[in-house]
Amino acid sequence: MKYTIQSRNDELSNRLMDEAIDYLNGFGLVYNEDEPDVVLSIGGDGTLLHAFHKYSHRLKETAFVGIHTGHLGFYADWKPSEIEKLVISIARKEFDVIEYPLLDVAINYRSNKESSHYLALNESSVKSPEVTLVMDVELNGNHFERFRGDGLCMSTPSGSTAYSKALGGALVHPSLPSMQLTEMASINNRVFRTVGSPLILPAHHKCVLKPVKGPDFMVTVDHLQLLHKDVKSIEYIVSKEKVRFARFRPFPFWRRVRDSFIESNGRNISG
Ligand code: NAD
Repeated sequence: MKYTIQSRNDELSNRLMDEAIDYLNGFGLVYNEDEPDVVLSIGGDGTLLHAFHKYSHRLKETAFVGIHTGHLGFYADWKPSEIEKLVISIARKEFDVIEYPLLDVAINYRSNKESSHYLALNESSVKSPEVTLVMDVELNGNHFERFRGDGLCMSTPSGSTAYSKALGGALVHPSLPSMQLTEMASINNRVFRTVGSPLILPAHHKCVLKPVKGPDFMVTVDHLQLLHKDVKSIEYIVSKEKVRFARFRPFPFWRRVRDSFIESNGRNISG
């Protein structure tokens, strides 16, 4: 089996990386940065997001696993003290693979420039670089609303515990192939109106954002942020591709939610 390691590059993460390489090579696994079967991410959720984007061209062949060297992460859910147990399980291939939905982002331009395509593990957000964002929101080809405000965010189920949560979005179990649209400070008064609630869209739906004002937009895809000029539309669908995580022991989503946001007292919640 081939593996690679993505480190956050701090002292602890690099020390753990060296330890893991020694163990895994000792078990006869091969370090291969180009075509890994398993990517071990050591750092935080941000480190795993970087690893995901580095290997997003080979999602069918690669499984991800994350160790957190800071606080408990949603993707980085192994403790540094568990590294020996983890590498033994990797070497013995004692793991299941679970799949989470992804978001497909297409940005189309008014000129003849080719569309840009991205996959998001957490979310994609749109803001105007200048003042208020004004966008028409279209659902499955029908006009839904004209949004005026700071911005819009479309999140994956596993991204629902990240930026989307801070925007008042619902927490969505990653077994539901869906995407969630949340608003950032919409203008709502007697003249301008938006629905005001987050929308959870199923896998076969499409959401298209069409600029009303200004052709240039700041579009984020997870940790990546780019200014896109001359934008005609931004299309969101639930991707046909999925991300694969290597699962070595049960750590249910709702337990991770509880441990991260409420309290961590070791009590078991199934689901
Ligand atoms: P980062 O690594 O510092 O991440 C920021 C925080 O988001 C960290 O605490 C991380 O653990 C947490 N996080 C990331 N993915 C998560 C997930 N799926 N569930 C729960 N928490 C998660 O910064 P970065 O590398 O730039 O990461 C980019 C991510 O930061 C974005 O995808 C976005 O979700 C998140 N973010 C959050 C806010 C907010 O909560 N107000 C604002 C901007 C970005």
